Amino acid sequence: VSQNASKLPSKILELIDGFRASKALFVASKLKIFDHLKGKGPVKAVDIANDVGTSVCGTERLLDACASLGLLEKAPQGYSNTDSANTYLTSDGKYSLHGYIIHSNDHLWPLFTNLESAVKEGSRQNHRAFGKKADDLFKDYYHNQEVKQRFMAAMHSIAHLTARDVATAFDLSQFKSACDLGGCTGALAHELVQVYPNLSVTVFDLPEVISNTSYFQPSGQHVAPVTFVSGDFFKDNLPEADLYILSRVLHDWPDEKIHVLLSKISAVCRPGSALLVAETVLDEQKIRPSVAVLQSLSMTEGKQRSGSEYKQLLEKYGFTDVQIKITGNLLDAVLCFKKSLSL
Ligand code: SAM
Repeated sequence: VSQNASKLPSKILELIDGFRASKALFVASKLKIFDHLKGKGPVKAVDIANDVGTSVCGTERLLDACASLGLLEKAPQGYSNTDSANTYLTSDGKYSLHGYIIHSNDHLWPLFTNLESAVKEGSRQNHRAFGKKADDLFKDYYHNQEVKQRFMAAMHSIAHLTARDVATAFDLSQFKSACDLGGCTGALAHELVQVYPNLSVTVFDLPEVISNTSYFQPSGQHVAPVTFVSGDFFKDNLPEADLYILSRVLHDWPDEKIHVLLSKISAVCRPGSALLVAETVLDEQKIRPSVAVLQSLSMTEGKQRSGSEYKQLLEKYGFTDVQIKITGNLLDAVLCFKKSLSL
């Protein structure tokens, strides 16, 4: 190793190349290479190319890139999945991130291609990336079945991966009923009923989402039921519950919308009822974790918050005893209680 090697700005070089690595992972996922290799011994590039319907030389380069990134094993007999590819990259893996990867490729990649304009203009770049300006973030996703399914699969990937840590961040056994507002496919709800068998859980989401949840339900005899209710949390009555949940909802919306939502939740909460917020909580400098800071660059009208900002926000709407638990997973948890009348 030459003396200069120790002076190499490896972090910077890695960042310069980051887009190539992301795209290699995205394309291998889109082509379902990891699904193709699941449960098989080593497979030759030519056989993968024939089955997937791609060029041999291109496939070989992509497979080598994946091996170099640690996603595949390469041996003289061919390529095979690593354990983590089986768990996270196959579309039916235990903690599949396939849905989130496809969303990253099809939706976030075009948005981030326009990051320079996004920074100059301070706005989301839907019009540049997709040729249209959406008035509501979610109308974007729900206007066609394929895009909706892709978005829900992306939400499901992350929710499933984080659900256990969110559900157990605090002891929630004192609650009898919970309502997960914007609970999407019910991934967190299903984890909650597993962890707290006496808790009855309702998922509340837009009708377009609720009508599409069946695909995502866990199967098996011992799966406890979860109730799905459709509605608009800005306009409609919220289901009764003694624990409300907002997971990855607050960061999407501007202050005026948050005002409507938190006022409504606060109004329906009885003293002693609680609100559980699941978000990535930023450090006080608001530069870590980078996953949340980078997410901000998609320029939704909402924002990521630090622990003290969540505390201040929740207290403003009559919640007290705000506790924050950094889980070490992608989502942290914030629990707070509706003030009793005497306080
Ligand atoms: N809570 C899920 C999670 O953590 O994976 C999903 C988070 S996703 C970023 C936001 C969810 O809020 C979506 O499922 C979306 O359909 C829902 N949502 C958006 N606007 C809504 C509204 N006005 N009323 C009810 N749900 C809404």
